[in-house]
Amino acid sequence: MIARIKYSIQKEFFYLGLFSSIILLVVVGMLFSFVFYRLSIENVNNSLKSANREVSIFIEGYFNEVKNTTDILAENQDIIDAKTNEQARAKALEIYKSIASANSNIAYIYSGYANGLLLINDYIPPDNFDPTIRPWYTIAMQAKPATSIGVPYQEAKTEEWLISQSKAFKDDQGNYIGVVAIDCSLEEIIRQLSERHFYESQRTYIMDQNGKIIVHPDKIYLGEYLPQIKENISQKHGKLRYTLENKKVWGYYNTLDTTEWHVISVVDRREIIQPMIWRIITYTLVAVGLALGLGMLQSQIFGRRFAHPLMDLGKRITDITQGKPKREARYSHSNQEIAAIAENIEHLAEDSLNRKANELRAILESTVEGILVVSRDRQVIYVNPQFYDMWGIPLDSLDSRDDHILTGFVLDQLAEPDKFLEKIQLLYDSDQEEKDTLYFKDGRIFERFSRPLFEGEVLVGRLWSFRDVTQQKNTEDKLRLMAITDELTGLWNRRYFMHVAQKEFERAKRYDQHLSLLMLDIDHFKRINDTLGHAAGDATLQYLGSLLNNMMRAMDTAGRLGGEEFGVLLPSTDLENAVILAERLRSEIQGNTLDYTGSRIQFTVSIGTASYLQGDQSLETILQRADTALYKAKFQGRNQVVSG
Ligand code: GH3
Ligand code: MG
Ligand code: MG
Repeated sequence: MIARIKYSIQKEFFYLGLFSSIILLVVVGMLFSFVFYRLSIENVNNSLKSANREVSIFIEGYFNEVKNTTDILAENQDIIDAKTNEQARAKALEIYKSIASANSNIAYIYSGYANGLLLINDYIPPDNFDPTIRPWYTIAMQAKPATSIGVPYQEAKTEEWLISQSKAFKDDQGNYIGVVAIDCSLEEIIRQLSERHFYESQRTYIMDQNGKIIVHPDKIYLGEYLPQIKENISQKHGKLRYTLENKKVWGYYNTLDTTEWHVISVVDRREIIQPMIWRIITYTLVAVGLALGLGMLQSQIFGRRFAHPLMDLGKRITDITQGKPKREARYSHSNQEIAAIAENIEHLAEDSLNRKANELRAILESTVEGILVVSRDRQVIYVNPQFYDMWGIPLDSLDSRDDHILTGFVLDQLAEPDKFLEKIQLLYDSDQEEKDTLYFKDGRIFERFSRPLFEGEVLVGRLWSFRDVTQQKNTEDKLRLMAITDELTGLWNRRYFMHVAQKEFERAKRYDQHLSLLMLDIDHFKRINDTLGHAAGDATLQYLGSLLNNMMRAMDTAGRLGGEEFGVLLPSTDLENAVILAERLRSEIQGNTLDYTGSRIQFTVSIGTASYLQGDQSLETILQRADTALYKAKFQGRNQVVSG
C-alpha cells in the first residue's frame, strides 16, 4: 500500500494523516488507559470492600446472635441446675437441641460444669475429657461474668477447628459453676469467607487484635503473628497495602465491634495489573492499526481531494510550458477551485501564445525579407507575402510543397539553378546555418540565409529567408570602382595603378618574367590650359585617356599618375617591345587631333620606358628608371621615347 504512493504530495498527506491519527489515538489511548486503570482499581476496591463487609456482617451477626443466646442460656435455671438435677439436665438438652436445629451456623451448643460434667446433645467426649481445661471454659471462667467471644480451639476428638463463644453462669450461692458455650465450625466461617471471591487470588481472612491470624481459608499462617500487616491497620476499616513474601497485596480491612478482630480481604496485585497490561498492549496494537488505517484513509481522501488535482494541475502547467498541445479531456477533479485554476492557466497560456503568434506574424509580414518555413518532409509551413512578391509567385497559386515552388517559380529565374538546387538538397539534411548569394538571369542579386529549426533536440525543418540586395550590391560595386578610378579620364587612379604595378612586379620577380613600364607626360600642357582654358585641358586629358584605352592590349594596365602624367604597365613585355609600343603610342597621339568647341587641339607626349631587370629589389627602382628616361626625353626636346 505504502509502495504505491509515488508522488511527494500524496506522501506528505499520508504522513500527515498518520501523524495526526497517531497523536489523536495516543491521546485518546492515554485517556482511556487512565480511566480504565482508575475504574479497575475502583472495581477491585469495591469488590474487596463488599466481600469484606459481607463477611464482617455475617460474623458480627453470628457473634451477636450467639452472644444473645449465651446470655439467655447463662440465666437458664435448668442449665444451671443440670449439674445435679437429672430433670433439669434433660430439659437443658431439649433447649440445646431446639436452638441447634434452628440455627445452621451452630455446630455445637453445650455447657460444661466445674465438676467436669459436659452437657451436650449427641457428642460423646473421649476418655479423660475434662471440660474445665478446655480453652472455652478457662477463658469464660477467667473472664466472668463477661462473655468470651471467638475462642478458636481444636476439637479434642475430631481435631476440627472451632470458634467458641461462652459465658460463665452462677449457682444460687453466686459461685460460678459452669460455662455455657456455642461453637461454630471454622469450616463454616471459611466457607463463608471463600464464597465471596471475585478474583482467583482473592482471600478473606481474620486477624485478631494482636496481629495473629485466627481464620484463613487456605489455613496458612494460622496462629501466626504478622505484625507487618497489623502495622498498616490504624483505623476501624480502610484500604490495606502490604507486601508478604515478596507478594504485593491490595486489600481492605474492617474491625469487628464485638471482638476487635480484623476481617481482611486481599487480592494479589499481579492478578489485577497483569491483565490490565495485556489489555493496554492489545489496545495499543489496535490503536496503531487504527492509526495506520485512518492515516491511509485520510491520505486517500486528501489525495483525491487535493493531491491528485494538484498533481494534475502541475502536469498541465508543465505541458503548457513545454508547448505540448492542449489535452482533449477536461479537468475532471471534484476540487472546483483547483479545476478553475487549471482552466484559467490554460486560457492565460492560450491568450499569451496567441498574442505571441500574432506579434510574430506581424513582424514576419512587415520585414523586407521573404520568408519560407519548410518541414523536413518538404511541406511548406509558413510563407510571408514578401516571399511571393520577391519571387514573382502569384498569391493565388499557393502551393504547400516546397519542390513545386522550386520547379514552378524559383529555378527558372536563377543564373545558376543547378548549383542552387544542389545546395538546397544538402541543407535539408543538415543542421547548419548557411548564407549564400543568388544571382538572377535578369541581374538581380538575392542574399539567401538558411537556418535549421528544432523542436527540443529534434530537427523539424528549415527556415529560408531571402533579401533583394541588387541595389546594394550595385552601389557597392560603383563605390568600389569610384575609389580606384580617375574621375576625369576613366583610367585607374594612381593608387590603384601602383597597387597593380606592385602585384605585377612581384609576379615578374617570382616567375622571372618580363615586365615593362611606360611613363608618359604631355608636352607643354600648360600652354593648352593657358591658351584655351582649363576645360580644354581637361578635355585633352580625357581624350588622351580614351586613346590609351583603345590602343592598349587586354593585359595592359593604364593609369593616370597625376596631372598630365600617365603610366602604362606592360606585363610579359621586354624593353625592346615596350619601346616599340611606346613609339607607336607616341606617333598615334601626335597624328591625332582633338576637336574642342571649334578649336583643334594637337599635342605630343614624351615617354620614358623601363623594364624589370634581374636584381631589381623594388618597383621603385623601375619607376625611377622610367622617370629618369622621361626626364631625358623632355630634356632632349620632347615628343620622343627614351628607354631607361
Ligand atoms: P613640359 O613639356 O615640360 O611637360 O611642359 P608642361 O607645361 O606640360 O609642364 P608643367 O609641369 O610645367 O605644367 C603642367 C601643367 O598641367 C600645370 C597644370 O596647371 C596643368 N594641369 C595639371 N593637372 C591638370 C588638370 O587636371 N586639368 C588641367 N586643365 N590642367 C592641369
Ligand atoms: Mg608634367
Ligand atoms: Mg608636361
